[in-house]
Amino acid sequence: MADLSPMMRQYFEIKEQNPDTLLFFRLGDFYEMFFEDAKLASKELELTLTGRDCGQEERAPMCGVPFHSAESYIARLVAKGYKVAICEQVEDPAIAKGLVKRAVIRVITPGTVMESSMLDESRNNFICSLFSGENSAGICFADISTGELRATELAGGSAQELEAQVKNELARFCPREILLNPQALALTGLAKFIKDKLSASLECIPEEETRGAGKVLENHFAPALDELDISERPLVVSAVGCLLIYLKKTQRTGLERLNSIEMYFGSQFMGLDLSARRNLELLETMRTKSKRGSLLWVLDKTKTAMGKRLIRVWIERPLLNPAQILRRQNAVEELTLDGMFRESITEQLTGIHDLERLMTRIVYGTANARELRSLCGALSRLPALKQLLDGMRSNLLQDLRQKIDPLEDVCALIEEAIVDEPPFSIREGGMIRPGYHEELDAFRTDMGSGKEYIARLEAEEREKTGIPKLKIGYNRVFGYYIEVSNSYRDKVPEGYIRKQTLTNCERFITPDLKQLEGRILGAQEKSVQLEGQLFETVRTQVAEQLSRVQMTASAVAQLDVLISFAAVSVANGYHRPEVNLGGKILLKESRHPVVEQLLDGAPFVPNDVELDRNENRVAIITGPNMAGKSTYMRQIALIVLMAQIGCFVPAETAEIGIVDSIFTRVGASDDMASGQSTFMVEMTEVAEILKNATSHSLLVLDEIGRGTSTFDGMSIARAVLEHVADKRSLGAKALFATHYHELTVLEDLVSGVKNYNIAVKKRGDDITFLRRIVRGGADDSFGIEVAKLAGVPNKVVTRAKQVLHELEHGQPVTAAKGSAKHVPAEPEGQMALVSPKESELVTRLKQLDVNTLTPIECMNTLFELCRMVQD
Ligand code: ATP
Repeated sequence: MADLSPMMRQYFEIKEQNPDTLLFFRLGDFYEMFFEDAKLASKELELTLTGRDCGQEERAPMCGVPFHSAESYIARLVAKGYKVAICEQVEDPAIAKGLVKRAVIRVITPGTVMESSMLDESRNNFICSLFSGENSAGICFADISTGELRATELAGGSAQELEAQVKNELARFCPREILLNPQALALTGLAKFIKDKLSASLECIPEEETRGAGKVLENHFAPALDELDISERPLVVSAVGCLLIYLKKTQRTGLERLNSIEMYFGSQFMGLDLSARRNLELLETMRTKSKRGSLLWVLDKTKTAMGKRLIRVWIERPLLNPAQILRRQNAVEELTLDGMFRESITEQLTGIHDLERLMTRIVYGTANARELRSLCGALSRLPALKQLLDGMRSNLLQDLRQKIDPLEDVCALIEEAIVDEPPFSIREGGMIRPGYHEELDAFRTDMGSGKEYIARLEAEEREKTGIPKLKIGYNRVFGYYIEVSNSYRDKVPEGYIRKQTLTNCERFITPDLKQLEGRILGAQEKSVQLEGQLFETVRTQVAEQLSRVQMTASAVAQLDVLISFAAVSVANGYHRPEVNLGGKILLKESRHPVVEQLLDGAPFVPNDVELDRNENRVAIITGPNMAGKSTYMRQIALIVLMAQIGCFVPAETAEIGIVDSIFTRVGASDDMASGQSTFMVEMTEVAEILKNATSHSLLVLDEIGRGTSTFDGMSIARAVLEHVADKRSLGAKALFATHYHELTVLEDLVSGVKNYNIAVKKRGDDITFLRRIVRGGADDSFGIEVAKLAGVPNKVVTRAKQVLHELEHGQPVTAAKGSAKHVPAEPEGQMALVSPKESELVTRLKQLDVNTLTPIECMNTLFELCRMVQD
């Protein structure tokens, strides 16, 4: 077999060091892929597969993308979960002896993307590292595009509980890529959850690669480490250390961007598990997964990318400490007072680009001159922004004002060094402003005046030699030369060095000409080179200001979110809630923040709420389908959440006793993928709630028990309700919507339980939803009326009414009139000639206990029965 060509040998060496990646191998102006990589990339990116001689008999399969448009191709591959290794020429081909050196400068993976074109500016892009032990785990999340790094320890009692906590945490951060130790894979449902629910890449890090994790962590965070409550938590140390090792391996540079760890603990924030976050539609709707229709959609009027990312974090992490909530509330209140002032701040915020991500690219050394200009543009807004905050009185706004560093020096440096509209590439010059650097200016003058020098030299030589047609020309091979036609050959002076003989002329060079040529050609090359160096110096100087920019960016983000809360509060008529530790939830004229925005002009009917730790702990809410039970319950949960993130709330007055968690059990879960039945999912969620809720939690339980037979369902619902209400077992505040009217007796039997219903007006056969919550249980389900409203055919509705009437009066249900199998009743005394179907019908009806059926079950049964006799 023939030997591989030297370049292919180099390719294989590099490929061997980066086995599980697609290798983008730089060849001139292209990134090429070979062999299996080429086949795969040509399929995924729809590129033409070609071949290249590689020294062997068969050509190597090859495909490639131009380097200047590589980003979009890489983005597509990374989005599909591939890792892309970028292999560059690391020496100048012009001066390389033999084969030019190449090396992988970075591996781009789903969790380590930094390019703005590949990122959604309103979301973090997290990579997670999970280290599981016996019954606890260390977990950390880093967004290397913004420099955030958060870590925590999860301690579960059993493996099952630990798995639930891990899933919960993963679902909250939605990482794109997850590293985990082999033990974490022992959590049975985890890998499937990561694949199905998060669509994240998963990488199991072998034991031996994690050994040095502690040391790596120590070296990276050296002095700051003592302040963090981390060294006592070996699993967290391993998780963070392991992440650093992975990032070092894939990113090679710029790790200093991750310069601090935020240790967080569940106890700092309101507990919101995966189902609560989903059911309350905090960031996206349950069905369509869109932002429109979520709480975020209503509250997010932020102007900066940093604010957009932070508001998500705030919504998902409501506070527990009243002092912290008050701090945010005071700031929001101050900002609600003056609309003009808000507008001025908003105007400044609008021009502030993504400082965090720009800074990352600057620190990693991947930012170009345009990005430096963007940074400068953003920074130039800061002095005015800071000044606007001068007169603010609330502590938080004063604090933010202090943290905003106007960074005028950094802005001035960029302004001075970089031209207003620099080119995209940093390798072709044209970035540095004239006057910034003397030597560069001299090079540029040399380049500019080159032609002039040549013309002058030509005239001098003509005069010196007396050759009138002497010309100075240029070609790529010889550079500059003096051309003399054959007729003047004898006049060529001694110092001329012959370079080329053509048919009718000869070409020469002279030391003077060569010197001039060196100056002209060198000037261009040197100026480009010098510009590169100057640019890098400026970029490094800016990078050194990382912590100042980071602090400013964080303050700008907070200000942006606070302004957004204030603007929304004013626009939607929200009021400041009184937040305390009193345990009450008292709302007057409260509304659902999202539903009221979606009603398209129809008025939203406001309602009151009265919950406390004593007589009003549990509200049983009955009422017809569609009356507004779910809306009412979610509205209360959302208002509590809004109050605890520091926002104003849609109510005329509100007193909110801080809750430690919100739990929800709402509707049928779409968890078919998990292989569990709807009822199983429902019960698992109920189990989780009863296990984790405390007397300070708020529970939203919508139609517990409806997934099974009536008796079972009602028994479960009642037992759950009693458990929740009883101060000796749980004693939490709960909203409990049900169609089991029988449960309303609990008001008299269990202390703390109160009945409510959502009023409807009945006129003849029609009902009108009043949407008003009133005390007492509902006396009717109005299932048939709702079915009529929904467009069930009249014939069926009439028949349903007939069946209902007969059932309610304890009569056997007669067969439907006019049905094919309808047989008139036999005279008494004779044996009834009923068909087997009809006798089956009668048996079915006798077995039915209509009082225990929900309206929906009634309807379903009725359909079934009708079908039996109509067939
Ligand atoms: P089901 O028992 O069938 O689940 P439900 O009683 O929970 O029904 P919701 O889903 O809460 O009913 O409300 C149905 C619709 O009624 C909502 O989508 C909303 O458009 C409207 N609605 C609910 N509450 C109000 C209100 N207070 N003011 C105006 N419209 C409302």
